[in-house]
Amino acid sequence: PQGERAVLRTDGVTKRFGGLTAVDDVDVEVQNGEIVGLIGPNGAGKSTLFNCITGTLNADEGRVYLQGQDVTDWPEYKIARAGLGRMFQETRIFGDMTVRKNLLLAAQEGGASVGNLLRRPDDSLLARTEELLDYVDLGGLADTRAGRLSFGQQKLIEFAMELMAEPDLLLMDEPAGGINPAMLENLIQYIRTANEDEEATIFLIEHNMDFVMEIADRIYVLAHGERIAEGTPEEIQNDQRVLDAYLGR
Ligand code: ADP
Ligand code: MG
Repeated sequence: PQGERAVLRTDGVTKRFGGLTAVDDVDVEVQNGEIVGLIGPNGAGKSTLFNCITGTLNADEGRVYLQGQDVTDWPEYKIARAGLGRMFQETRIFGDMTVRKNLLLAAQEGGASVGNLLRRPDDSLLARTEELLDYVDLGGLADTRAGRLSFGQQKLIEFAMELMAEPDLLLMDEPAGGINPAMLENLIQYIRTANEDEEATIFLIEHNMDFVMEIADRIYVLAHGERIAEGTPEEIQNDQRVLDAYLGR
């Protein structure tokens, strides 16, 4: 309905693996400024849908629109450059580099010299690095080798790295995975603040229900590749189809 204001819109996306329809005619839409959750039982097709959005996989049918532009079948790097960020379950940090250098690298545009970027980063980029590190409360670790950080801290660094690139939309695949409960509260806070201050628009897969119910404005539910529900966290928690899907009925 809101059509062109959507940062992301998929129209009938379908992906098959042999005889299995992993994603079946799925429509989703993310509006600018939203935090939208994507949930569903294991094997529901959540990661596959993300892969079709990012260009990691080509959908067999359907279209993907980013800021109203049809990016279906675009190569992954081009979709990323068009404003789509993605945070993976495994962190992809350079462990031998300092935290600051990891952030600087994350801001690198295609074509820029990596050597120059690290030796002579411009002031605005450095300022942005400090700002984002403070923001995830890791300012004191800027000169530490990233490999020395805890898993939870590395996730926060990765989150800051994604924000360096100022994506129009950030996809996160199970950001809460493997994070301890104390760190989880922080992560919720940082994602919220990023959403409010940085105007980061976020679409996230999460199996931790408390996390997703607390953070999402709106949630889509997949089961067996199909979109079975959409609504506010409250609506989703009270949706019989969703309860049935999780109970395997
Ligand atoms: P989710 O992320 O919701 O747990 P996935 O999108 O990873 O689910 O997987 C959906 C279905 O597609 C599963 O049955 C999975 O086994 C299958 N699948 C995912 N990727 C591949 C692939 N590359 N080749 C074959 N089958 C796949
Ligand atoms: Mg998955």
